[in-house]
Amino acid sequence: MRPTTPTRRTLLAGGVAAAAAAPGALCCAPPAAAGRGRGRPAPADATTLSGDLPGARTRVVLLGTAAGPYPEPGRQGCATLLVVGDRSYLVDTGYGTLRKFIQAGVDPAGLTATFITHLHSDHTADLFNLFLLGWGTGGHGIVSPVKVFGPGEAGGLPATTPGTTPAPLANPDNPTPGTTQLLAGAVDAWAYDLNIRTRYNSRAGLPSLMEATDVMPPDAVGSSPTGPYAPRMDPFVVFEDDRVRVSATLVDHPPVYPSYGYRIETDDGVIALSGDTTKSDNVVRLAEDADLLVHEVMHIPYYAEAGYPQELLDFFASSHTTPEDVGRVARDAGARHVALSHIGPGDPREVSDATWHRSVRSTYRGRITVGHDLQQINLSTPRGRG
Ligand SMILES: [Zn+2]
Repeated sequence: MRPTTPTRRTLLAGGVAAAAAAPGALCCAPPAAAGRGRGRPAPADATTLSGDLPGARTRVVLLGTAAGPYPEPGRQGCATLLVVGDRSYLVDTGYGTLRKFIQAGVDPAGLTATFITHLHSDHTADLFNLFLLGWGTGGHGIVSPVKVFGPGEAGGLPATTPGTTPAPLANPDNPTPGTTQLLAGAVDAWAYDLNIRTRYNSRAGLPSLMEATDVMPPDAVGSSPTGPYAPRMDPFVVFEDDRVRVSATLVDHPPVYPSYGYRIETDDGVIALSGDTTKSDNVVRLAEDADLLVHEVMHIPYYAEAGYPQELLDFFASSHTTPEDVGRVARDAGARHVALSHIGPGDPREVSDATWHRSVRSTYRGRITVGHDLQQINLSTPRGRG
């Protein structure tokens, strides 16, 4: 089916280079076309937990599983929650994160740390909302400081596409703010609400609940905001407490820099999360011998069938991973279980679970989960099951 919407015409006119220059339009997955599944009723959003039985000491909840930023029916923005006893650890904060958090039955009071893979909007849309709306009173909600780890200031933008005139820069004096500046700017913008609530409701100041740290790769890696984006490297530790140890590695998601994947080690198992990336040897190292690899995925044939030009499909392939390559990464890492998340297209009518599963299975023999919102996975599951 040929593209018909104004947005799609813009994409066709802009091509690959414009894709890099217009991340709001193109990352991380474009709006789904009016594809083969659209004649059927829109799928309902998940509102209750599914998957492995609850009660495990250590479990993973796929809060949101869609690629974005354009919202799709049936899946919400990507976010993954690791629950270890009465504490929780969050990776990414796509739209709907806090609502899914609540629907999962997990009190944000136990949220200990949040890790942002990269600063694309479909991974950060609910970062400040997590605090603004999850700001608690009476022992519920966020009432004690939460650590936030995310990319530091990129320090450079991709080159302007030859022959095009880009829109004026947003915030030209500081056009590449990192995670701490993102949160500080949001505090400034919401000052009136925050000040009212602290003056008349005796709440802790919201900034005191956000302990943000900018994460930058070691200098020796030799990465840069104009490339190379993700040279081969060993993961480096960014956070550790008595329940988890979290390491990061650079992944290949041009032109977004730095983009990270995370590995979280617990007493009950190891989870690795790819972040947004094309097929990456760094993810193979990150997920070495992991019990669970949560990997992004894009079904490029779907977009080809929808009429996207080859140069744009090539751009998608350079910054995202096909399901067959997800299987290869999981296989090469020796991961026992792979779960698809950040799924593009996110609308479950467009690419069936069976198709996703079959595509990964063609290259991987371990356990496969096609992620859906609020699906939980028991990380305490004895190794080798399933
Ligand atoms: Zn992205």
